[in-house]
Order: sequence, then structure tokens, then C-alpha cells
Amino acid sequence: MSTDPRRQVPRTDTLLADPALAAASARLGRELVKDAVRGVQQQVRQGSLAPDDAVAAVLAGLPGTAGSLRPVLNATGVLVHTNLGRAPLSPAAVEAVVAASGTTDVELDLGSGRRGPRGEAALAALLAAVPAAEAAIVVNNCAAALALVATALGGELVIARGELVEIGDGFRIPELLESTGARLREVGTTNRVALEDYTRALGPGTGAVLKVHPSNFVVRGFTRSVPVASLAAGLEGTGVPLVADVGSGLLRPHPVLPEEPDLQTTLADGADLVLASGDKLLGGPQAGLVLGRAELVQRLRRHPLYRALRVDKTTLAALEATLRGPLPPVQEMLAADVAGLRRRAEALAARLAGAGVDARAVDSAARVGGGGAPEHPLPSAAVSLPGSFAAPLRRGACPVVGHVEDGRTLLDLRSVPPSADGDLAAAVLAVAGRGA
Ligand SMILES: *Cc1c(COP(=O)(O)O)cnc(C)c1O
Repeated sequence: MSTDPRRQVPRTDTLLADPALAAASARLGRELVKDAVRGVQQQVRQGSLAPDDAVAAVLAGLPGTAGSLRPVLNATGVLVHTNLGRAPLSPAAVEAVVAASGTTDVELDLGSGRRGPRGEAALAALLAAVPAAEAAIVVNNCAAALALVATALGGELVIARGELVEIGDGFRIPELLESTGARLREVGTTNRVALEDYTRALGPGTGAVLKVHPSNFVVRGFTRSVPVASLAAGLEGTGVPLVADVGSGLLRPHPVLPEEPDLQTTLADGADLVLASGDKLLGGPQAGLVLGRAELVQRLRRHPLYRALRVDKTTLAALEATLRGPLPPVQEMLAADVAGLRRRAEALAARLAGAGVDARAVDSAARVGGGGAPEHPLPSAAVSLPGSFAAPLRRGACPVVGHVEDGRTLLDLRSVPPSADGDLAAAVLAVAGRGA
């Protein structure tokens, strides 16, 4: 018999017929398994793998799911990290998503057998959480909410120059608004705007006055803006709706973030509509929340564009469970006390140092992120590792994203759920074992 490894390469059919690989094909689809088989056959051909180890190597090389997105441990200290998918869903929300993933009664009343209002329970949960709102709808994200408002109420939108903001990745709110065909009537200057600037700009073509929370920056010094309550009072009797984009999605005032606007207070102060993201501080799925006066919400819902922006059943399920279920991870991370974070950092550092890793516990500053509370660092604690750990940690079997500061890799624990500390330690030890 030939010893040429190319003669011993297991055939594709033979490998695919192996019971373990057949089961993998049923779970992941034949093509993904075939890709892994081809890679392994190549290794055997090159002589770097024994033919008998082929099945095990294929199994080891298979992805965890048929999708390529992988779970990542967020140790950046940025609680809502847009590049890492913003808010992690709560286990309750994940369960609700799974339950709603198949065919589900999202738009059917099972009692009567008739068509029912879409996502009614999620909307009821929103209204229960924000009693100042008469009605609500949910769209794809906050940008979609802005586009819907500009399209349906548009004409001319009156907005302060200091609130023509760019959120991130080149997303500029004024450009989005203008892309709908609405005209912007800019009032005030970069640093100052007064109530009279707004009221003087009103005319027969005014569709709405828009207030945008400058989420990711602050202007200091000789500044002035008009609070929602004053603006609402100034618009009284004009019939012009006041729309406030608060961005972060806080339902109520939060003791840890005193500067961050919330939906309930903004409506109680007199805004006619409030807009927010679902996947920032609310801690839920990507969504755009629109709450406020029933007549305005109804106008948005009836606009043809709404159909193009509405959310699917899994988003509605996740949103409802986020609102009704236990506190979502983002809220727990916000509330975590620094003494507890320090204890976790010390325990982790001691465990890693015991295994010979240059690790120590340090104080750090976490952030809300996602364009929230830019000036409000959250006291936190981190495990400090050599800078050379950052890249291999990111590329590991359980990817960890930390942040590098002064040549050290910091793993900030405020953005890591306590239940993941064991995985974090294992990921660091795996890197250390490979000699980072
Ligand atoms: C984040 C943010 C947006 C964009 O929200 P998405 O849900 O990402 O579309 C819009 N406005 C403000 C004030 C924000 O902070």
C-alpha cells in the first residue's frame, strides 16, 4: 500500500456519511460541513493530519451556529458598544425571542380567530412603563423614527443649530431629516438658542419643532438652550407639535445618570412626541420607540412609510420581555457598585497571577457609550494585563475585547456580566498558555 498521504485522503462522501458529521449537516447545513471537510482533506493531503483524525478535525473546525456572528465578551468598559451589538439581551428576552421565532400570534387574536393589532402586548408594556404617553409605536431604530416623523409631519422642521448632531459612523441627523424631503429651519447659533428664536421661525409651513439630545458631546462656556418645558409652554396654542429625540431610551430618571433625559419626564414636561433607541440604556433589542399624543402617533402609524419601518415579531417579543421581565444586563451594569467590581477584579487577578500571568487589579473608568452621558465616567475596576494580550484575546476561541491604555490591556468588569468571569479567566489563561 502506498504511503503517499494523497492516496489516503478520505473521500468527501465517506466523511459526510459519518454519523457525527451527518448530524452536523442536519444542524448546520451540508455546505458548511463540506467546507470544513475540504479544509481537513487539504491538511491530510499535505501530511499535517493523520487520515484517522479527519472526522474529529472536521468536528473541531465547525462553527457553533450556521451564522457567522460569534458571542464576544465585552471587557471594553463601554456598556453600550455599537460595534459589539449594543445592549446584550436579558435571558428573559432571549427566551421570548426563541418562543416568537416560529409562527406566532403577533397579529392574530387566538380567542376570536380574528386578526388582532400587531405587537399589542409590547406597546402596552411601553405605555405601562411610560404613563405620560397616550400611545406608542415601534420602528426599526431611532433613525427610522426620525425619518418617519420628518416624512409624516415634515414640511419645515424647526431645529436649533447646536442640535444638528452627528451620532457616529458618519450618521448626521440633519442629513437624515433632509433626505426625507423635509426642510430644516435652523435657529440660534452653535452655542446659544432662545425661545424667541424658535417662536419667530414658526410659519404656515412648520411641521414640527424638533429637539435633539446632543448625546455624545457637551458644549461648555457661554451657552444656552431651551428646556423642553419652556419650549412646550412657548408653543402652546400654535398647534405646532414638539418632538424630542432623547436617544438613550431611559424610561425614567436614573440616579446614576442625572444629566440623561428620559421618556417619562420629557413627555410630562410637555413634548408631544418622544423618540428613543431600544438598544441603548433601555437594554433591549434594536428598535425606535415613538411615544406621545395619540393623534400624532396615529398619523405616523397610518403613513405608508410606517410599513417599511416596522419591526418584526422577534423584536416585539424581546422588547416586551425587556420591559416586563427582570432588569436587563445594561441596567445591572449601570447599577453595579464599584466595591463589588473591585472584588471581582482582585479575585480574577489573583487567580491569573497564581498561574504566572502578569495580572493585577486596577481602578478604571467605564462609560455608557452608544452616544450617552459623554461626560459621565462610571467608576469601575479592571484586570490589567500586558499590552500583548489584546490581539490574541480578540482572536481566541471565546473572543474578549478589552481596551489598551498606556501599553496595558485593561479588561473592565463593569461591562462583563459576573457570570462570565470564569470564561474571562479561561480566555486569558489560554492566551498565556500560548505564550503571549
Ligand atoms: C443614538 C441616537 C440616535 C440613533 O439611534 P439608532 O437607534 O441607532 O438609530 C438618534 N438620536 C439620538 C439623540 C441618539 O443618541
